[in-house]
Amino acid sequence: MKSIDYSIKQVRERIYKACERSGRPQEEVKIVGASKGVELDRIRYAFQCGITDFGENYVQEARKKIEACDFKAVWHMIGHIQQNKIKYIPRLFDYVHSVDRFEVLEGLERFGKPMRVLFELNLAGEETKHGTDEKGLKGMLERIRELKYIEPIGLMTMPPFDADPAYLRKIFRRLKTILEEVNSEFGLNMGELSMGMSNDFEIAVEEGATMVRIGTAIFGERL
Ligand SMILES: *Cc1c(COP(=O)(O)O)cnc(C)c1O
Repeated sequence: MKSIDYSIKQVRERIYKACERSGRPQEEVKIVGASKGVELDRIRYAFQCGITDFGENYVQEARKKIEACDFKAVWHMIGHIQQNKIKYIPRLFDYVHSVDRFEVLEGLERFGKPMRVLFELNLAGEETKHGTDEKGLKGMLERIRELKYIEPIGLMTMPPFDADPAYLRKIFRRLKTILEEVNSEFGLNMGELSMGMSNDFEIAVEEGATMVRIGTAIFGERL
């Protein structure tokens, strides 16, 4: 547990430095602890060390933890969303980062609970990754006003695992540009860029990330 405390301090320090390099206030960047595979006791410990937000990938796993959770964490759904799992999401999560098709929004809308959503973009066009492209994003935004309970707040991306720093930077920069473009095209005011994981969060912060999803660098290697 002690090492979680130390790791969080290190991550915060690295975010602070990346903010300094890019002239951004540190408060703009929220750490979302990516807690898939991490048991509730260790999540609680991270919470006590000041991490308030956690991201889960799998609805069944998240459900067990969130229902047993006895502290006031904010939960983010960051994993791929299967159609038959949508019904669990509004009750469990405050944010959904991984919206990649309109059916997910329609499914969430049905529960009549305000949901903050981000759209997942697959900018490298990797077939193995989920996420939509710009055309898909625009298709969803054209219809977003049909939905009363869906609040679009930003974009998310997950670059290729083995990408080099220059390419990562390009991807993160592209996500920010797309956010600005669609905000102006659709009269929206989305402000969140969910980008950056353990291996690349400093570059993401330099390029404007407002949410970094960090697992390994906080909780250690997943088994
Ligand atoms: C696991 C995961 C992360 C965190 O990955 P690390 O490399 O362990 O920091 C971030 N985002 C998503 C969508 C994930 O599935």
